[in-house]
Amino acid sequence: ATDTSGGGAPTPMMAQYIEIKAANADSLLFYRMGDFYELFFEDAAVAARALGIALTKRGKHLGQDIPMAGVPVVSADEYLAKLISLGHRVAVCEQVEDPAEAKKRGGKSVVRRDVVRLVTPGTITEEALLEPGRPNHVAAMARLGGANGAFAIAWAELSTGAFAVRSTEAGRLLADIRAIDPAELVVGDALFHDEALKPVFASLGRLARPEPASLFDGATAEGRLARFFDVATMGGFGDFARAELAAAAGLLAYLARTQVAARPPLGRLARVETGETMLIDPATRASLELTRSVAGRREGSLLGAVDRTVTGAGSRLLAARIANPLAKAAAIARRHDAVSFLLAERRLGDALRAGLKGLPDGERALSRVALGRGGPRDLGALRTFLEGARETAAVLAGAEALTHELGEAAGQLRALPGDLEAELSRTLGDDLPLQKRDGGFVAAGAIPDLDEARSLRDESRRVIMELQATYAAETGIRSLKIKHNNVLGYFIEVAEAQAGALNGTEEARRRFFHRQTMANCMRFSTGELADLESRIAAAAATALKLELDAFERLVVLVCEAAAPIRDAAQALAVLDVSAALADLASAENWTRPLVDDSLAFRIEGGRHPVVEAALKSGSGDPFVPNDCDLSGEAGSHRGGAIWLVTGPNMGGKSTFLRQNALIAVLAQAGSFVPAATAHLGTVDRLFSRVGASDDLAEGRSTFMVEMVETAAILNQAGPRSLVILDEIGRGTSTYDGLSIAFAAVEHLHEVNRCRALFATHFHEMTALSARLDRLSNATMRVKEWQGDVVFLHEVRPGTADRSYGIQVAKLAGLPPRVVTRARDVLRQLERSGEGRRAAFVDDLPLFSAAASRQEPAAPAEPPAAVEALKSLDLDALSPREALDALYRLKAMT
Ligand code: ADP
Repeated sequence: ATDTSGGGAPTPMMAQYIEIKAANADSLLFYRMGDFYELFFEDAAVAARALGIALTKRGKHLGQDIPMAGVPVVSADEYLAKLISLGHRVAVCEQVEDPAEAKKRGGKSVVRRDVVRLVTPGTITEEALLEPGRPNHVAAMARLGGANGAFAIAWAELSTGAFAVRSTEAGRLLADIRAIDPAELVVGDALFHDEALKPVFASLGRLARPEPASLFDGATAEGRLARFFDVATMGGFGDFARAELAAAAGLLAYLARTQVAARPPLGRLARVETGETMLIDPATRASLELTRSVAGRREGSLLGAVDRTVTGAGSRLLAARIANPLAKAAAIARRHDAVSFLLAERRLGDALRAGLKGLPDGERALSRVALGRGGPRDLGALRTFLEGARETAAVLAGAEALTHELGEAAGQLRALPGDLEAELSRTLGDDLPLQKRDGGFVAAGAIPDLDEARSLRDESRRVIMELQATYAAETGIRSLKIKHNNVLGYFIEVAEAQAGALNGTEEARRRFFHRQTMANCMRFSTGELADLESRIAAAAATALKLELDAFERLVVLVCEAAAPIRDAAQALAVLDVSAALADLASAENWTRPLVDDSLAFRIEGGRHPVVEAALKSGSGDPFVPNDCDLSGEAGSHRGGAIWLVTGPNMGGKSTFLRQNALIAVLAQAGSFVPAATAHLGTVDRLFSRVGASDDLAEGRSTFMVEMVETAAILNQAGPRSLVILDEIGRGTSTYDGLSIAFAAVEHLHEVNRCRALFATHFHEMTALSARLDRLSNATMRVKEWQGDVVFLHEVRPGTADRSYGIQVAKLAGLPPRVVTRARDVLRQLERSGEGRRAAFVDDLPLFSAAASRQEPAAPAEPPAAVEALKSLDLDALSPREALDALYRLKAMT
């Protein structure tokens, strides 16, 4: 049927569609029509492209064909997942009245429809759309008090009910957002368009979206939150700043909006104190590949290498801990205590893990149930979850002297109401359908009336089957069948040729009345059959109603127990993480780090967990453990130590730098560490500038990015910071680069006074150690053997004697002619340059005094070819470039 005629007014249905679409302009509209969600106009084109589904048309609007695409309701989840992962939002529009009602209103009325839910990247709850081990946060940001006002970020996980807020400031906005790692960030529109924040939102891309500023209204924020939590004031939850309340209330309003009717099921609002966690700036987070590799995957990241959890919730908790290492020694020790305990009590740890393995995701099932989106399987999941929680509590009850954290978890498990599990077990059957719609999920014996209705229904069905035999005998038609369909209900079917036995005589016709004639059969009914049928229908309706009532009753019970269920889920996650870390520590021979308030950083036999794992599964070469000591004196004005690491490319410098940063992250996340011993004073900020993270999309050159990141470090690092700098100054000419690297090290030593590792290929810099008392030189050991270089990956005190660039180039496959020629050139260069190199270093003034002194006088002009050679960075040349360079040099002589 065509709904729209020519170029006239839209049909009532189209008018309804257009109205609903206008109210949801920024979302794709899934418009429910029967068993399909249909998309129209531009939405249809977008969806057809994104999903690879057919683009058709339906009727006309303003004289034009209306493009249409549709997805079946039963498989809508898959399509939703695809659209969401592509960054779309989807408004799901359902029929909200029975079509019969619309008919009653008369001819042209359409069924009333409404958007029942906005599906956005941060608000999905379906198991099929979520990754089990990845938190799916939605965040909101608010600023109160104008341009220099206070910032706060609130975040929640709708699928688990987690809800938290923290204050922040303009300078660390991006770092705090990346630490939360939201799938979606909503911001009041005025703030979103603030010029000063442009770089932040540019870097977040489509993650951030504007929403009406009214959501974040500061004046009403506390009242709105208090109403939601049903408390008089928010004071009981914590001491919230006004911006924090605005952000949390804004997030709540956004969630209410996307969930439309349902009340977002959130746990109590937690406040994260600034200073509680290690601050990791975005570039550092990305380059250290904490929870995601540079390629965006979990494999290859630190998390990927250390995650031995057995539940989704455990994996999510571990991800959150690694993404947000703690900064307070006491809190860190509590986590280490739990790991130590389970390491000592291996049997307990193994028992816990065995019990947790395969347990369903209780918090996510709870959220779906609370949002009215749950089905019988979610209730079933909760039943199994509660059973697992009870058994886990029993396992813990057998243990003595639990640590603080484990004891707390045990307490939360004990607090679960036992009657809920009993009620779920009593009521639910074993083989549960996904949807409650058709019933069949309540166990036999649970509800007497239901049993009765079911046996009536089943008995009647049995009687019908007996009737078939009776009728067949009476009529002598052996092929007589009693069948059922949705139009006729139960009927008797015989072949047309045999129908005479049912309608041939007056008497037969009184008994069997004709219902339908088909191509080669006829269908009849009888009074008995009709009677039985209505009894079955009544019994089935009664049974279904009883089941649905039971479902609602269970939903209410579950919602009443939401808080203890959520706590228990958290407790199980803590147990999972602690047991997993103990298992890891034992399998990989990791040790408990000592983390205190000192400025120590003393690691013996440290290893890089990801490189070590890669070596193990790859070449099988052993990883060479290395020591690192950057300890400063706590409370002294002297600050932490700096190691200047030199050595050839491929010698292991980056690996060494990163492993020490990762050890700090692991230690403060509460894990044991890959080292023989480790003692570190808490790191409050971690900075790392490693490798060239190309930011070309933002139109900045590699060198510019490097300098921006270096500037951020030099401007912000403090005495508790740990700084990792790799190859500063590579992207420019040798003298520029060397000078910048020089000045940066002096600044770190004199001004930042932080603990730092600085890798460089400028050997000239090692002379600095003579003047900077907390600077030491370290180098990667290599062995030379018959003109080749062998990397030992061993860090030892001292200076690299040479850069071995040519040997490395040879390993890389540079043509032998080029290698030989490069050796000759190098020999000549070393002869001519020796004197001046040393002079350059000795003449350079200290950073602090640099401003008042003259630059060193430029040396006499060397020949052009030598100058050109000097500016070559042999380590950075590709074979092809090296050859080109040689030709150029040749041309100069
Ligand atoms: P550089 O930064 O000096 O160029 P990398 O740190 O990138 O060197 O290390 C190069 C390769 O050497 C790594 O990919 C790894 O395979 C190996 N390697 C590095 N450190 C070690 C180590 N301590 N033990 C064993 N192999 C190592």
